[in-house]
Amino acid sequence: MNLQSGTYYWPVTLPEAPAYPALQENITCDVAIIGGGSSGAQCAYYLADSGLSVVVLEKGTAGSGSTSANTAIIQYSGEKMFTSLVHTFGEAFVARHLQLLKQAIDEIEAACARAPIDCEFRRRDTLYSASCPEDIERLRSEYEYIKAHGIAIDFWTREQIEAQYPFSREAAIYSHNDGELNPFKFTHGLLQYASELGVWVFEHTGVNGHSFDRDQQRMTLRTKTGHTVDARTVIFAAGYENVEIRKEKQASFVSTYTVTTEPVAEFPGWYNRTLLWETARPYIYIRTTADNRVIIGGLDHDTDIPEDRDSRLHHKKDQLIAEFNRRFPDIRVKAEYASAAFYGGITDGVPLVGKYPDYPGCYFLLAYGDNGTVYSQLLSRLIVQEITEGHSPDLVMYLQNRPLLGGK
Ligand SMILES: Cc1cc2nc3c(=O)[nH]c(=O)nc-3n(C[C@H](O)[C@H](O)[C@H](O)COP(=O)(O)OP(=O)(O)OC[C@H]3O[C@@H](n4cnc5c(N)ncnc54)[C@H](O)[C@@H]3O)c2cc1C
Repeated sequence: MNLQSGTYYWPVTLPEAPAYPALQENITCDVAIIGGGSSGAQCAYYLADSGLSVVVLEKGTAGSGSTSANTAIIQYSGEKMFTSLVHTFGEAFVARHLQLLKQAIDEIEAACARAPIDCEFRRRDTLYSASCPEDIERLRSEYEYIKAHGIAIDFWTREQIEAQYPFSREAAIYSHNDGELNPFKFTHGLLQYASELGVWVFEHTGVNGHSFDRDQQRMTLRTKTGHTVDARTVIFAAGYENVEIRKEKQASFVSTYTVTTEPVAEFPGWYNRTLLWETARPYIYIRTTADNRVIIGGLDHDTDIPEDRDSRLHHKKDQLIAEFNRRFPDIRVKAEYASAAFYGGITDGVPLVGKYPDYPGCYFLLAYGDNGTVYSQLLSRLIVQEITEGHSPDLVMYLQNRPLLGGK
């Protein structure tokens, strides 16, 4: 799958990234994780001290998939408002989902604190603004819903926004305690943490075949290095490439664009260096980095054809910079990295774990959506809970056959 193109900032921040060998023998383990991106690393992190033998198999190098294009804004609010998800899943489901997402951000913070590499995790507030007058009431209902579930959140008027920022919006949700991180360092930090606790990590070890032994109840994976990995459980954490291994009809893809600027001296008028997001579709989102760059992303385009995606990169880069200048005319920015990438979503707006009868003992981790990193943290934890404890009461909410309102 041609996932992305362009130039990437995150790998440059860790030039001496840990390297792992290719698999050179046949091995047997309890759990095999396919994919050494942030999702695979998050699974390895939770399995590291489980007492199980665990193997991570990465076809290229760790963090080189969509993890290196990830803008890594860490939020609980995603592409569909919670008030909209209630119509699909019901109140009890959405209330629990919201609680689990909040918890996942705390879990990410704790994982970063344990990682031997500084993942540049910072708590940040988010300004989520109404892009047009028609969106004000939708945003207000969303604010009331989140607040009623005990989460620190404010609703800002136009006057409040204008008092804090150089731009104006009709209204906004101001949420406290979201976050940001460096996804490449996060991935390497968690893999190194897991590897120090005995998880085997192999790079340049693509999985290109598998078979299931019903008598032994074990999966045998074949690798491009010509070896086999015999596992009781397999977690497919191959990111967007999971759907090439096992089709999932609820997954869909668009193209998205990102610019990372050169470092800037200061951020006049940028209140608290908040994460910026909006109700417009296609939207723009903006964050800063630990070394004072600005990342501007969005302007999604509805295509899953790589040539179509890539042909727009130059123009989208200029548009993203122009959008930033409109918001912060006093911060002069110059693009240094720009990329075009596929961006996965799940049609009903909630990430998904595939547990398919034709793949016994396997989990397909599809943390697709705006909050892929947060979704991965949540889903990894639940998958590992089921593997280690035999049951995860919350995992059923995320299975591909989860119940929808109205029995759809
Ligand atoms: C432009 C962009 C911006 C984003 N912004 C955000 C954001 O702000 N906040 C957020 O939370 N999320 C965001 N996301 C989502 C986030 O990037 C993803 O959810 C996350 O990085 C995916 O990590 P992953 O490990 O699942 O996938 P990947 O990083 O793609 O990792 C999968 C790995 O599997 C390996 N692999 C594939 N097939 C095989 C095989 N057969 N054998 C062995 N290895 C294999 C690949 O080489 C790859 O390294 C964004 C995504 C994009 C593209």
